[in-house]
Amino acid sequence: MAQSLYEQLVIQTQMNYSRYYGVYAQGGTPIKLTKKPPLPYDQQIKIFAQKVQEADHIIVGGASGLSAAGGGDFYYSATSSFKKAFKRYYDKYKINGAFAGMMNHRWASRGEYWGYLATFLHTTLHARVRQPYRDLQAILKGKDYFILTTNQDTQAIKAFPETKVAQIQGDHRFFQCSMQCTDDVWDATKKIDEIYDYLEEHDTTAIPDDMIPRCPHCGAEAFPWVRGYGNFLEGQRYQEQYQKISDDIEHHLHDQHVLFLELGVGRLTPMFIQEPFWALTNNLPGAYDVMVNRDYQFLPQQIEDKGTAIKGDLAKVLTDVRTTLGR
Ligand SMILES: [Zn+2]
Repeated sequence: MAQSLYEQLVIQTQMNYSRYYGVYAQGGTPIKLTKKPPLPYDQQIKIFAQKVQEADHIIVGGASGLSAAGGGDFYYSATSSFKKAFKRYYDKYKINGAFAGMMNHRWASRGEYWGYLATFLHTTLHARVRQPYRDLQAILKGKDYFILTTNQDTQAIKAFPETKVAQIQGDHRFFQCSMQCTDDVWDATKKIDEIYDYLEEHDTTAIPDDMIPRCPHCGAEAFPWVRGYGNFLEGQRYQEQYQKISDDIEHHLHDQHVLFLELGVGRLTPMFIQEPFWALTNNLPGAYDVMVNRDYQFLPQQIEDKGTAIKGDLAKVLTDVRTTLGR
């Protein structure tokens, strides 16, 4: 099958990423940036709102910063929300955030590891739709849009119709076979709730061995369907997600005004949102790219007249844009 335009752009960035890994790892980009100083914040917010109004189609790229801005801040350090949701595990191991727990090698048993894993998944699956996503709902109201997200936490699919969302880095609602014996992914939510209820009822960190979720085909342990641990299943569901964003881009190549929104893209994954959006903005006449990031303000020279890079708190930016739009 021929590669879609989106796939080509991802592959291009992946090659760039390997070549300039050091630059990215230090928080930089090998892409030549504009020398123009950024406009004042208030003006940038007005431009953001105006571009939303003008757009025929809006493609939102939601990355880690978008979930973190709304209080999903338990991934990378032992924040108060982490200590609360993972209390038994924090008290026992002083784990420094949800991802660090995934790498903890001191689990007493597989049952304890699974207790932790289910606690992690339960926390995200049962989280309410956070404020930045609610502001985004208001901003996109009445517009034609699509959401591409590298987040696995299901915030985007809770806030928007699933047909308009591609979760290309996995999804906490599904298990896969840890040994990748099958292309199937299957529902994880019921099992996660069962495990969580067991932990609560027994006030314990571990589940019995016979509760550990297993692959229905080969009996190996299940694993969450997420990238990041070296066994991400790029099977049918993955292809479907890729196809969704590829199709959406193809369908709107000839729109007069496509607006790209880069929300909270970190330096480790420029290949799925940031650089494809930059390339598309450069190539499509009438396209525009708004980038919002807490730490970086990167506006490529090539699109210096077709983009705005806002450095700031993503939650505040989205609230300010919503207010400006009067929605
Ligand atoms: Zn299997």
